[in-house]
Amino acid sequence: MRTDMYINGKWTGGGGTTFPTHNPANGEIIAELPEATASDVDTAVESARAAFGSPEWAGLLPSQRARLLFKAADLLEERAAEFARLETTDQGQPLAISAGFSVPNAVEHLRYYAGWTTKITGVTTPLSVPDVDHRTRREPLGVCGLITPWNFPLMILVWKLAPALATGNAVVVKPAEQTPLTALLLAEVLDQAGFPPGVVNVVTGGPEAGKALVRHPGVAKISFTGSTAVGREIGAEAGRALKKVSLELGGKAPSIIAADADIDAVIEGNLMSGLLNSGQVCAAATRFYVDSSRADEFAEKMAGAAGSMQLGPGLDESTQLGPVASLEQLEQIVRYVDIGKSEGAQLLTGGSRAEGHLADGYFFQPTVFGGVSQDMRIAREEIFGPVLTVLPYDDPEELAPRANDTEYGLAAYVWSRDIGTANRLAHQVKAGTVWINMPPLLDAGAPWGGMKSSGSGREMGWDAIEAFTEVKSIWTNLA
Ligand code: NAD
Repeated sequence: MRTDMYINGKWTGGGGTTFPTHNPANGEIIAELPEATASDVDTAVESARAAFGSPEWAGLLPSQRARLLFKAADLLEERAAEFARLETTDQGQPLAISAGFSVPNAVEHLRYYAGWTTKITGVTTPLSVPDVDHRTRREPLGVCGLITPWNFPLMILVWKLAPALATGNAVVVKPAEQTPLTALLLAEVLDQAGFPPGVVNVVTGGPEAGKALVRHPGVAKISFTGSTAVGREIGAEAGRALKKVSLELGGKAPSIIAADADIDAVIEGNLMSGLLNSGQVCAAATRFYVDSSRADEFAEKMAGAAGSMQLGPGLDESTQLGPVASLEQLEQIVRYVDIGKSEGAQLLTGGSRAEGHLADGYFFQPTVFGGVSQDMRIAREEIFGPVLTVLPYDDPEELAPRANDTEYGLAAYVWSRDIGTANRLAHQVKAGTVWINMPPLLDAGAPWGGMKSSGSGREMGWDAIEAFTEVKSIWTNLA
């Protein structure tokens, strides 16, 4: 385990105090880490600036950058089990998620963007000007600040890091203070892969470290994933300084279940959409719109399936639902469940912390509320925990307006056996991603990001190459 910051190719304790990171399965402190000061952040940014312009990095051919990324992917894959256990220990997610999804997804992202390095082309454009030739080229931005959340610490970091490096930028990473450990281990892997010192730096700490990075004049771009509230602050700060910024923010995804849907088949997919990673998924389906003639049947079956899921420590291989990532998050979930009860929603299963041998950890029982109405706070605000709401509807025409009646627009799910209905709804819903008749899958090739208050910009695919480069227009006089 690495517990120091990684700056300019060296491991350092920084100049400030420390903070603890906890194992959410038992509340114990795993490690103490440096709280980066503004001066530590400055050192990291300056080393990234020097590396950005250095022959060792800027002078690499695209194929040489590709080789470094492929090497990093191989090293990460070789150490996949170690990364998965560390992620589970620090974040809480069951091994089935960390080993089966988070780490392999990170490996694939590194390989996917290694492939792009040699294909980042510009265009030649036929201008209506005599005797000139015109072409464009994509250039890296400079130092990019990558600020990440605690729900999928390694995977979300790599979504940013892989395209940032593939396009030739240098980065300063600020992982979430609740889950910093896999980012530091990844820095070790990148070091072993041969990235020159200063190309990748990792500073640890909380919001103050993040703010210092956002404010730093040497940072050209901030790529942030986290809450909408913090995203607004970062967007405003970056806007004032005219920095580039990408924001991947919160969500409150609807799952629209048309009257013709096969309820039994739908339950399984929706269980994963709603409760994966104990609901700590920005794209989690948490508002289930069900035809009122079938809403009771759906709610009852959903409650039965959710209530029978195996809750336990993530390192235990039989666990289906792990703890939530922090005590603060647990307290937020408790607050929202109380709000749901006081709003008059019908608690069908769960509703409290787990007891007995799980009482020391941050475990919350999977919870389903029935009879939820559109104006209830549990149906409008992001809870980010294992809390699902079932909202009956009478008229299919009200579905799209109700699904869109939220500030968020990250993801949506549509379940229908009628291809026309499914695709019509997919077009009508304001969301960056829509899954039809399937749980949430991700692939490095499929653009990812939010509409409305769920963010701006897209990660993955070619979109991320655009997000980490800018276009230069070059004219040549042919006369
Ligand atoms: P958060 O906004 O509290 O923190 C995210 C990161 O920002 C952390 O590293 C934190 O230290 C840092 N930070 C906090 N305040 C800051 C400030 N003022 N300036 C700079 N940095 C600051 O979010 P969280 O609680 O860690 O994560 C959960 C949120 O992330 C949820 O809202 C979830 O929906 C969202 N999320 C979105 C996506 C997506 O792809 N859209 C993916 C995962 C999570």
